[in-house]
Amino acid sequence: MFKKHIRKNAFCVKLHNGRRGKMNIAIDGHAASGKSVIAVGIAARLGVNVFDTGALYRAVACEWDKRALGEHTQEKMSAFVKSIKFDVKFIDGVQHTYINGFDYTPFLRQEKISVLSSILAPYPQLRAKLRKMQRKFARENDCVMEGRDIGSEILPKADYKFFITAPVEVRARRRFEQQKGKEASFEQVLKDLKERDYADENRVVSPLKIVKDSIIINTAGKTPQESIDECVSYIKK
Ligand code: C5P
Repeated sequence: MFKKHIRKNAFCVKLHNGRRGKMNIAIDGHAASGKSVIAVGIAARLGVNVFDTGALYRAVACEWDKRALGEHTQEKMSAFVKSIKFDVKFIDGVQHTYINGFDYTPFLRQEKISVLSSILAPYPQLRAKLRKMQRKFARENDCVMEGRDIGSEILPKADYKFFITAPVEVRARRRFEQQKGKEASFEQVLKDLKERDYADENRVVSPLKIVKDSIIINTAGKTPQESIDECVSYIKK
């Protein structure tokens, strides 16, 4: 059964870290560092899906916002976590993220959701629930998994770990241009990004950090294609 599976799937070979199993590539990095584009590019080259784990936290923020739960507390979060069921489906290669059957995909990228997702993400009860589903997905699928704690916490035995970054001003400029100044000024985007970096790096639970076997990719001054090529060159090795 296992042998048959190996023949069918090019990635199901003895991997460089000695595990047998699915090919898992972890991509972590700062907000607006270009990690999503890079994850998609690597996945396209390898013919696998990208699991964007930030979408889970963003969907949480959307649901929290929809229920108008307001100020967050441990008690509220515990009850909330019990009341939600996540689902992720890939439709024509595009990730759709559901909570209790509602597809939040079109609503995930609003600036207020970016901010709220980062505020709610540290709750351990939420992370525990999401950790389980992320690990299950990686066990069952060859994938590129993108987030903040993939290499450090979710998939510490990933076959390759990339940490994507760029100076915060470069990232803010990109984010500002993406939303075409419609939602916030450059100064506001920069401030929000600095706050998100601080929150992501300094939270007690699963902070964003570079682990010793990460390959660091600085995307400043590079086109997305150049960064993708750089990552893929390591994978070929
Ligand atoms: O990557 P993205 O910006 O979409 O993530 C939204 C928020 O979710 C981040 O600011 C971060 O706080 C949180 N997050 C996380 N762990 C992950 C992915 C995202 O805490 N693995």
